Amino acid sequence: MTRQYELSDSSVVVVIGSGAGGGTVANELAQKGIDVVCLEAGSRMTLADVVNHPPTMDGLMGWHDKRIGPMVWVCKTVGGTTMRWSGVAPRIQEHEFRALSTYGQLDKGTTLIDWPLTLEELLPYYDKAEDKMGVSGTHDIPPSAETNNYKVLKAGGKRIGYKEITSARTAINPVARAGRPGCQQIGFCNSGCAVGAKWSTLYTEVPAAELTGHFELRTQAMAVRINHDKSGRITGVVYADADGAMHEQKARAVCVAGNVVETARILLNSESSLFPDGLANSTGNVGRHYTRHTFGQAMAVMPKPVNYHRGTRQSGIILDEQYHKPERGFAGGYIIETLSLDPWNVSTWAGGWGPGNTAFTDDYTKLAGIFITGEDPPESVNRISLHPSERDENGLPVPVIEYRDHPNTLAMREHSLKMSRAIYESLGATDFTGSDIPVGAHNMGVARMSANPDDGVTNRWGQAHDIPNLFVSDGSVFSTSAAANPTLTIVALAIRQADHIAERMQARTL
Ligand SMILES: Cc1cc2nc3c(=O)[nH]c(=O)nc-3n(C[C@H](O)[C@H](O)[C@H](O)COP(=O)(O)OP(=O)(O)OC[C@H]3O[C@@H](n4cnc5c(N)ncnc54)[C@H](O)[C@@H]3O)c2cc1C
Ligand code: SF4
Repeated sequence: MTRQYELSDSSVVVVIGSGAGGGTVANELAQKGIDVVCLEAGSRMTLADVVNHPPTMDGLMGWHDKRIGPMVWVCKTVGGTTMRWSGVAPRIQEHEFRALSTYGQLDKGTTLIDWPLTLEELLPYYDKAEDKMGVSGTHDIPPSAETNNYKVLKAGGKRIGYKEITSARTAINPVARAGRPGCQQIGFCNSGCAVGAKWSTLYTEVPAAELTGHFELRTQAMAVRINHDKSGRITGVVYADADGAMHEQKARAVCVAGNVVETARILLNSESSLFPDGLANSTGNVGRHYTRHTFGQAMAVMPKPVNYHRGTRQSGIILDEQYHKPERGFAGGYIIETLSLDPWNVSTWAGGWGPGNTAFTDDYTKLAGIFITGEDPPESVNRISLHPSERDENGLPVPVIEYRDHPNTLAMREHSLKMSRAIYESLGATDFTGSDIPVGAHNMGVARMSANPDDGVTNRWGQAHDIPNLFVSDGSVFSTSAAANPTLTIVALAIRQADHIAERMQARTL
C-alpha cells in the first residue's frame, strides 16, 4: 500500500536519496511504523528496462548533471548506484576504525581521526546488513560461483603465497533467496542486473518500505535546500519536481543520502543567516576530507582463454594485503578483487583506437583482471565545494570536486600493481598493464562522524553535531576510508541510525 503525505505534514521523516543509504534508512524506519517521504532525483526503472548495453544504461541511470573536477561515477535513478554497483561486500577491520591511533598522522596534510564507534558495536549491524543484502558465504548462503577470472586469481594468488582467497562476500544471490533468483553469470553487472540477483534498493528496500503503508517515494524530486526555524531546528526540504516547480515538504527530521557530492552540495547550499556557511558546517568540515579509496586496475593476457566477460564482474577477493604492515612502505592496506571489463570499457581504457587498443582487443578472450581498493588517507584539501557563480538547471550552484592522490595512496597503488603482476606472471601471463582508475566510485568523508565536533560534521549516529534533527545516511559519514568497498558499511550504519532515530522519537527527544 503506497501512501501519499501532505506537503504540510510535519510528522514525516524526509529521506533524500533512495540508494544504499537512503533506501535502507527509509525502509528500516517504515518497518518501525515511522512515516517516511523519500525524495529521489531520478525516475523509477523496472527490471524490464535493464538491457545488456552499457552506453544505453549509462544514459538511463547515470548522473549527468554538470560537475567540475574529476569524474564521480554515480547514478540518478531509484536505487541509486546500487543499480550500477558490483556487489562486493567485505567488512571494515577493527584497526581501521582506529586509523589515527594505528597509523598516526601521516604528514601535515592528512586529517586522520579515529571513528567514534568500534567494530564491536557495529558487528550486530553488519550481521543484519549481510542478511538483508544476501552476502554470499554468510547466513548459510553458499560462496559465489567461481568464475574463470576468479579461478585465475585464486591459482596465481596461491602460487605467490596468499592464503585468504575466497569467492564469498558478494551481495549477489548465488542461489535463489528472498524472492530473487540466483545469478545467471551473464556479466554486465554494472549496467544493472536484469534478473535482480544483485542486491539493489530498487527491488528490495523500496518495495518493502511501500508494503508497510508508512512510505511514499517521490521520483524526479530533486532536493535543493533544507529549511530550518529560528532555533536552527530543521523544518522541511525544498525540492524541484519533474517540471521544475518548487515544493516544500515539511519534516520532523531529515536524512540526507545523496552520495557524498550531492550530500555536501545540499548542506552547503542551505546556508542562512543562522548558518552562513551552510548547514552543520559551524566547524567548516562539510565537504572536506573527501576520500575515494586507493583504486587500481590490472589486466593481463593469459596463455589460454579466460572469457572473463562470462560471469559476475566482481566476485572473488584476496584479503592478505588488507592489514597494516608498515614495512611495505605505506599505512593501511588494500584488497585484491576480480574485475572484468566489457569490450567497450577495454577500448576506452586502452585509449580508443590505436595499437594499445588493438593488442588488447585481439586478446580479449584471454584477459584476466584485478580491481584494487585500499585505504586512502583524508586530507582537508580534498573537498566538495560550490562554484561561486555557475548554476545548474535547478538554480543550484554547480559542485566543484577537488581530489589529489596522497603519496601514501601512490605507494599503495604501486605495491598493489606489483603484486597483481606477480599473480599473473606466476601463471605465465604474456602481457600486463596496470593503472589508476581515476573516478570516484567509492565516495566518503564529507560529513564525517567524529567524537570531537571540531574534527567532523556528525556524531556516532550520523546526526549533525550542530542540528539534532538532521542526519546524514550515506558514505559521507565515514570518519576514514578503510580499505573495504563501502556499501556494506553504509547499509550497516543506516540500519543502526534508524534504530537510533526510532529510540529518540519514542523518547520524544527528536
Ligand atoms: C561501477 C561501480 C561499482 C561499484 N561496486 C561496488 C562494490 O562492489 N562494492 C561496494 O561496496 N560499493 C561499490 N560501489 C559503490 C556503491 O555503489 C556506493 O557505495 C553506494 O551506492 C553508495 O550509496 P549512497 O546511498 O551513498 O548513494 P547512491 O546509491 O548513489 O544513492 C544516492 C541517491 O540519491 C539521489 N540523489 C542525489 N542527490 C539528490 C537530491 N538532491 N535530491 C534527491 N535525490 C538525490 C541519487 O539520484 C541516488 O539515487 C560501486 C560503484 C560503482 C560506480
Ligand atoms: S552476472 Fe549475475 S549479478 Fe551480474 S548482471 Fe548477470 S545475473 Fe546479475
